[in-house]
Amino acid sequence: MKNIALSQRVGKIKPSATMAITAKAKALKAEGVDVVGFGAGEPDFDTPDFVKEAAIDALRAGKTKYTPGAGIPELRDALCQSFRQEEGLEYKREETIISSGGKHALYNIFQAILSDGDEVIIPIPYWVSFPDQVLLAGGTPVFLHTNEAEGFSFSVEDLEKLITPKTRAMVINSPSNPSGAVLGEELLRDIAKLAVEKDIYIIWDEIYKKINYSGQKLRSLPVIYPEGKSNVLVCGGLSKAFSMTGWRIGWTLGDARVINAMSMIQDQSTSNPTSFAQYGALAALRQGTGHIGPWLAAFKERRDILLEGFARIEGVSCARPEGAFYVFPNISCWFGKRWEKGVIKDSHDAAAYLLDYAKVAVVPGEPFGSPENIRLSYALATDDVRKGMERIAEAARALRP
Ligand code: GLU
Repeated sequence: MKNIALSQRVGKIKPSATMAITAKAKALKAEGVDVVGFGAGEPDFDTPDFVKEAAIDALRAGKTKYTPGAGIPELRDALCQSFRQEEGLEYKREETIISSGGKHALYNIFQAILSDGDEVIIPIPYWVSFPDQVLLAGGTPVFLHTNEAEGFSFSVEDLEKLITPKTRAMVINSPSNPSGAVLGEELLRDIAKLAVEKDIYIIWDEIYKKINYSGQKLRSLPVIYPEGKSNVLVCGGLSKAFSMTGWRIGWTLGDARVINAMSMIQDQSTSNPTSFAQYGALAALRQGTGHIGPWLAAFKERRDILLEGFARIEGVSCARPEGAFYVFPNISCWFGKRWEKGVIKDSHDAAAYLLDYAKVAVVPGEPFGSPENIRLSYALATDDVRKGMERIAEAARALRP
């Protein structure tokens, strides 16, 4: 075997914990193990039929060739139209790009805006891929501590303290993966003002915008603070609100210079997002999220089952999420306790215990920057949520001092 070194960049990153747990739960299920999978942030609902039909029609019509790297013009225009209608925000086609999923959009943003040593501020807890994507672009993640008791919020003063001459951007993901926290508009306005004042980008990840239980529409950051529009790179996609995780369609809207740089990166790396998936996406954006009401009702019921379940477990606290489909309980009271195969020392051990003993897959909190928590996605059938919660409660009871 050759001993050829891998890149230094790759040496800085680790496997995605969300992807790893999801793969593990799926493999165990395939072996016939009755695992309840709270791992993946992937809705259990089917992609709406009208979206599938549009993609099938595109396949039949021979739309199977390369498209422009930044996406088909109709889809970019439909994205502008949807922001105009839903948010009252104007974007031009050259201020939009279609990427192969929201994750790809974020990756390309970091590649487009970061030089070696540039800093990106990321509030804790964060989605596992933000820091590693920053590292892959040569940047340095700088973490902002948040207050769990106050629903993982923070003050703009704490944020400002982290800004240095090397800061290029901050990532704001609301509703948040993994906490489900929704940041208030007043705080968001102050953050955007600060970004304008300090001349830095806000990477506004609104992939969960439609998954919210407040009963009120969540507005896009450039609507909340229009004066900051050119500092905001709006990232989104269809994976969550249309249950299209495998289609890999995401987007960015914002500064045409950044979009143009991302477009070059796509031309030189992936080329276009899958041609017929883009036609499915076109149907989705043109029709909108009229289907989502029953999905939200189901998610809310599942969230409440978990919140009630964790409230009954002694010592465990769980902030009440107002969006996305995750709960992020603090299980640090389990640390130091034992079960037949050892002692739980950290969130990885807690997740391993739940998988081994209770046959429940959860993601440890440490890769989200919160070593005292575990993340559960409730994007799975309601009966499974109930069954999984019962198993977790039983596993908690079985731990010994
Ligand atoms: N974003 C989802 C999650 O956190 C999907 C997996 C991933 O891309 O990380 O579970």
